[in-house]
Amino acid sequence: SQGRRPLVAGNWKMNGLRESVGTVEAVRRALSPQLAERIDVLICPPSTLIASCVAAAEGSSIAIGGQNLHAKPSGAFTGSISAEMLADLGARYVIVGHSERRAYHNETDDGVHAKALAARRAGLCGIICVGETREEREEGRTLDIVRAQLAIGVPKGATGADTVIAYEPVWAIGTGLTPTPADVAEVHASLREMLGQLIGAEAQAVRILYGGSVKPGNARELMAVENVDGALVGGASLVADDFLGIAAAY
Ligand code: PEP
Repeated sequence: SQGRRPLVAGNWKMNGLRESVGTVEAVRRALSPQLAERIDVLICPPSTLIASCVAAAEGSSIAIGGQNLHAKPSGAFTGSISAEMLADLGARYVIVGHSERRAYHNETDDGVHAKALAARRAGLCGIICVGETREEREEGRTLDIVRAQLAIGVPKGATGADTVIAYEPVWAIGTGLTPTPADVAEVHASLREMLGQLIGAEAQAVRILYGGSVKPGNARELMAVENVDGALVGGASLVADDFLGIAAAY
């Protein structure tokens, strides 16, 4: 869409032991050069597997990313991982503000902003996630919610090179439910407009992904929506054939 290069990103969440590196190898084997020419492919494994997944993807066009980060570069933050550490492992992207982090780890929009700045500081591309709950949608507040999340989360001067947005309705994640293409179109258009207010003309260069129960069977319909520049895929990214089936929507 409008010269933006599609991005199909997998989020493995807290899934995968060492043998799961084989999934990266399988994606690598099956990714056709023609498709790799047209789209960016990203896999975000748990932190424990980033180094081995980077090794498995080396020499291919598959990028590896983190699922979360601490905003500080280093320090007394037991158990946390900084943007610099992710970059040092060869990660190129990091997911910021996933709804599971917001729900289970009290992440706020201000925290998301700090993490997005940290990602940029380390040369990573931050994938900033926004999305409404079922209740918020039923109350007709979807656009207000996602626009506010964007307005606070996106750093000043964000560019298409250092920032990706993912619209992920919370009620669609892991549920098999998806919004209609018309609903997705409405939200993505609103996010694009809000980005324009925040960063001006550069808004046209920022990719806006859809996420939430994307499967091979619905990817084509969802990816064809205006202003949808790719997918953030949870469950279906754990199986190489399913992930590639989604990528094949391009
Ligand atoms: C996600 O967690 O980012 C996600 C979209 O999950 P799923 O594809 O499983 O709904």
